[in-house]
Amino acid sequence: MIPAEFDYVRAASVDEALGALREHGDAKVLAGGQSLLPLLRLRLAYPSVLVDVGRIDEMRGVREDGDRLVIGAATTHDEVLRDPLVRRGCPVIADVVRTVADPAVRHRGTFGGSIAHADPAGDLPALALALDASMEVAGSGGRRTIPAGEFFLDYFQTAVGADEVLVSVSVPKLGDGWGHYYEKFNLVAQAYALVGAVALVQRSNGDVGEARVGLVNMGPTPIRARAVEQALAGSAATAEAVAAAAGSAGEGTSPTSDVHASADYRTHLARVLTGRALTAAAGI
Ligand SMILES: Cc1cc2nc3c(=O)[nH]c(=O)nc-3n(C[C@H](O)[C@H](O)[C@H](O)COP(=O)(O)OP(=O)(O)OC[C@H]3O[C@@H](n4cnc5c(N)ncnc54)[C@H](O)[C@@H]3O)c2cc1C
Repeated sequence: MIPAEFDYVRAASVDEALGALREHGDAKVLAGGQSLLPLLRLRLAYPSVLVDVGRIDEMRGVREDGDRLVIGAATTHDEVLRDPLVRRGCPVIADVVRTVADPAVRHRGTFGGSIAHADPAGDLPALALALDASMEVAGSGGRRTIPAGEFFLDYFQTAVGADEVLVSVSVPKLGDGWGHYYEKFNLVAQAYALVGAVALVQRSNGDVGEARVGLVNMGPTPIRARAVEQALAGSAATAEAVAAAAGSAGEGTSPTSDVHASADYRTHLARVLTGRALTAAAGI
């Protein structure tokens, strides 16, 4: 279908974007357009104005901030994937972003657009949750920082208001001792996950110091598999300990049943993928 008519504003700064959002009550932020444009074409959304944030310098690129990396929200997936700071400081990001869609989508779609879109089947929201990322959001009242744990509210809903812009995402650099792995189960190559598990494991002297698991598509929002994390923290880094902990991956989740998979099958996948991702991340 052809989208309903809309005006287009290309913002040169965050303030300009905020001004345009304030001026037009039903405006929407446009980043890479990879999720928004299909919604417009299906007429599931019909904003009167699109405010393009894709060329705002402040929102592009990756920079270091002490022991953290700050990723501009409008940085494309492809740019993130190739960024040397990402590869050196937090390589799990590149490993997850590499699985997003295909090269064409990765050249247009953005890191922040994916997180702001908050599709429970998206790979990056669960990554942000597992990394304990924090989001910098700008609005007319100034700027605020929202921890990932408070950011994702429901299906396609975040703590970013309609008149606000996600400016950047800050993540900790993962130092020595951290292993990571992303297990994504998709029905066809280069597609959304049926279920995914991001695992981060910190090992010290053969034990697991800390373990973090972010689950994709196991509920209306990305989910931290807390029961798994607690079971594994402080235990010996063995195949038996991982298998026992991964058995709890369904706890606290609420997967849907649809044409692709039943909720029971998704729960089964969550346990299997969590076990595999933790095994690889722990280097067992
Ligand atoms: C064929 C195809 C396959 C895909 N496969 C996958 C996949 O396997 N895994 C995956 O994770 N994703 C997948 N995607 C989605 C892709 O990752 C998109 O890039 C992403 O969902 C949205 O990013 P975008 O920059 O295109 O945002 P847009 O489409 O421009 O915007 C999406 C939404 O976020 C809002 N928004 C965007 N940026 C901001 C901001 N800075 N501040 C506030 N609000 C903002 C918009 O208003 C809109 O509501 C796929 C997309 C396509 C078309």
